[in-house]
Amino acid sequence: MGGSSPEIMGNVSRIESPPTAREFEVTLLGSRSGYGESIVLRVGEKSWAVVDSFLDTNRVPVAMRYLETIGVDPAGSISFVVATHWHDDHIRGLANILESSPEAQFCCAAALTKKEFMTLVGALEGNPFSTAGSGLSELHKVFSLLGERGKSPSLALPNRLVFRQNFCNQNFCKIWSLSPSDAEFKRFLQVIGREIRREDAPKKRLVSSDPNEIAVALWVDIGEFALLLGADLEKRGWTEILQSKERPSGLASIIKIPHHGSKNADEPGVWHCMLQPKPIAVLAPWCRGRGVLPTSEDVKRILGRTPSAYATASHIVRKRQIHQENKIVTQTLRESGIAFRDLASLPGVVRLRRELDQGEWNIETFGNAGRLVDYAA
Ligand SMILES: [Zn+2]
Repeated sequence: MGGSSPEIMGNVSRIESPPTAREFEVTLLGSRSGYGESIVLRVGEKSWAVVDSFLDTNRVPVAMRYLETIGVDPAGSISFVVATHWHDDHIRGLANILESSPEAQFCCAAALTKKEFMTLVGALEGNPFSTAGSGLSELHKVFSLLGERGKSPSLALPNRLVFRQNFCNQNFCKIWSLSPSDAEFKRFLQVIGREIRREDAPKKRLVSSDPNEIAVALWVDIGEFALLLGADLEKRGWTEILQSKERPSGLASIIKIPHHGSKNADEPGVWHCMLQPKPIAVLAPWCRGRGVLPTSEDVKRILGRTPSAYATASHIVRKRQIHQENKIVTQTLRESGIAFRDLASLPGVVRLRRELDQGEWNIETFGNAGRLVDYAA
């Protein structure tokens, strides 16, 4: 269960506390229904980045709602927005975020699926959205907006510095994209090339990469420490990253576990070559129909690598249960006169904060989030 009402109310008072001036923050937000993941990063004293997005029950991007909750005006503070890939559980509301953040730089993978590419080209030419399909309408909205603003996106490729900003004093926040790989980009060019030269009957069928295979994994470097944000990148992508001699050096102390903890995204070499021993691991569970990630085997495997693992949900909360819980919470708040109307739509939150020159991470969980050891698939 998501906790009794007093517990939830206790969380609210704490979640509202903003970071101190020299505190770095990375917060993973996960939908209570298991379909939505978003990361909020503090990248400067008054500057924030958002990686992926989903909407709350009022159709507001949860990342923006979270920033408001800690007293940050999202419109004036979001300077970098990333779409790791164009799957629905990662992108809903990205266009809203960009729309309200005119100065924000947008970043997405340089490689696309054929449908994504066609949608992108249509949006840049000012055509209305026509193709139905996962993630495509959000992609169309984002690129229409960029087109109107005359702005180009930062295109993610291996080992590309996509963001750099002074955090405070001598500390810089640098963000590198690690993927999609050159091999995936070449495949993208081949698929589009064949589409253009239709008269040449292809010798061999060539299909677009799966969006997860071209997802953008990110390396975030704050000088004293680093983070690895794994998106939904699967095994083949990680093998390419590990083989790259040019990737940023160092060992990350935090990993956002790729692809909701699934086995097909697990590459042991990542733990040996890119992470400190027993790093802090965070993940957002995923649920669609009967499919649930992580499975109990996944949980066991991850806990075998690090005991310091957290999930945005201790279990998947089904839709009917959310509705019931929302009713109870709303009623409790009304009775106690608290004016936080959107509490019921709060997602699971795993928040990690650390003073720039101190070694300890402060780990907090809110809502339905908790330790992975307590997670039940
Ligand atoms: Zn996903």
